[in-house]
Amino acid sequence: FSPWTDPGAVPFIRFENVTKRFGDFTAVSNLSLDIYEREFFSLLGPSGCGKTTLMRMLAGFEEPTEGRILLQGKDISGVPPYRRPTNMMFQSYALFPHMTVEKNIAFGLEQDKLPKGEIDARVQEMLKLVKLEQFAKRKPNQLSGGQRQRVALARSLAKRPKVLLLDEPLGALDRKLREETQFELIDIQTTLGLTFLIVTHDQEEAMTVSDRIAVMDKGVIVQVATPAEIYEAPNSRYVADFIGDINIVEGTFEGRANDGRNGSEVVRVSCGSFTAAVEQQCDVAPGASVAFAVRPEKVRISLDKPAETATNALYGEVWDIGYLGDFSVFVVKLEDGRTFRAAQANISRLVDRPITYGDMVWLTWPADAGLVLTR
Ligand code: ATP
Repeated sequence: FSPWTDPGAVPFIRFENVTKRFGDFTAVSNLSLDIYEREFFSLLGPSGCGKTTLMRMLAGFEEPTEGRILLQGKDISGVPPYRRPTNMMFQSYALFPHMTVEKNIAFGLEQDKLPKGEIDARVQEMLKLVKLEQFAKRKPNQLSGGQRQRVALARSLAKRPKVLLLDEPLGALDRKLREETQFELIDIQTTLGLTFLIVTHDQEEAMTVSDRIAVMDKGVIVQVATPAEIYEAPNSRYVADFIGDINIVEGTFEGRANDGRNGSEVVRVSCGSFTAAVEQQCDVAPGASVAFAVRPEKVRISLDKPAETATNALYGEVWDIGYLGDFSVFVVKLEDGRTFRAAQANISRLVDRPITYGDMVWLTWPADAGLVLTR
């Protein structure tokens, strides 16, 4: 089920040429973005790139300086936060310390003057959803960080928003708990069929939870795509470098070499001491400055010289090895002094001839594993 790939789908949330200035500083710059119903959507980028500002404008805590925001096709300018079908969960959780878990969850519903029976029913429903039934009578300081996070989530969901806005929701949790909670969030979002918009600077988190990700830089969106597309086909040096590990080498576009396998073409990028062949459509002119990139796990490392026909082959010395459990990363120093990384899955504990420091090795990769980055 992926409504956002259907060209006829109507966006649930639309940012239309939105700009936000604070004095003469532009936090968000002429940004347009569509988010669809039931999407788990992430805004990803480094600190200060405008993610939170974008989310706060959707929530109604800030108004755009220019442009408009549409929700289900309607302009929501001037609609106060409490009248919007959005609810925001803050990184600090902002729980009331003197109130029990159930009172915290009930708070917004009481403010809205819902009938008591309805409030009780919703609190029970939410406690069950976040698996905190037995903690209903505790106060926040009697809970772990992960439990507090779930209270905040329950409280945000109790008002049944159509869109839940999560600002760095898992930032305060340790790594293991964060990973578990990511899957709980996906479960809850799927169960309730809501649209989730999450702000994060953690690329692994964005990759794990999202249907689609918008990668931001200095108030603009650089790329919007699924996690797999962002990883496999980053549209720029910025996105390639921000997501995962990658070898990036500056070079010059040489032009088309020959036909590739999947109807595409193989192009060449001159990178000084070597030339990379990449199977990719490229619209730039020969001589243009481009970058060649390849992810370490797509680079094969071997002590044996490859066949003459190998498309891409580099020779160098093993300079460093990082053991990551599932993978080992080899840092190889090329003859021109540059380093190149190759990652190898540690599938077998018994390696015939393990590669070690100081070994001279060959690095090879197929033409369809590399990327030409034109911006
Ligand atoms: P972080 O992950 O650190 O929260 P972010 O990407 O969410 O970063 P924003 O909080 O949206 O970034 O801020 C974007 C820029 O706008 C920052 O440089 C910030 O200092 C500035 N900014 C945000 N709010 C205001 C404000 N009320 N007045 C002035 N400048 C602001």
